[in-house]
Amino acid sequence: MFYCDECRKKKGWPEGLRGSRGRCEVCGDGAVCHDVPSHAIPLPKPVPCKTCGEPTTMMGTKLCDGCWEVESRLEKYLESEKGREHVVRRLKECDAVFKW
Ligand SMILES: [Zn+2]
Ligand SMILES: [Zn+2]
Repeated sequence: MFYCDECRKKKGWPEGLRGSRGRCEVCGDGAVCHDVPSHAIPLPKPVPCKTCGEPTTMMGTKLCDGCWEVESRLEKYLESEKGREHVVRRLKECDAVFKW
């Protein structure tokens, strides 16, 4: 992992070998960066996905990969008639199973 001092402070990441010049992997700045092995960086604590409750480290969206995929595509998907038919059919099947 390669990051500048600004990003290091923001994330609370450890200091590494300083003085390597390159592009910060976080903000893309071409500053003097810390070169730190990825395993030395503490992973963010997972939070429950706001849709399905699975743990996720996507702090911005608070959605797991799966839910994000579906939810970011759903609007577009529903624009097609076949897509809507498919969703309605699936919802009816869920209806039968979950008795909403
Ligand atoms: Zn940076
Ligand atoms: Zn989810």
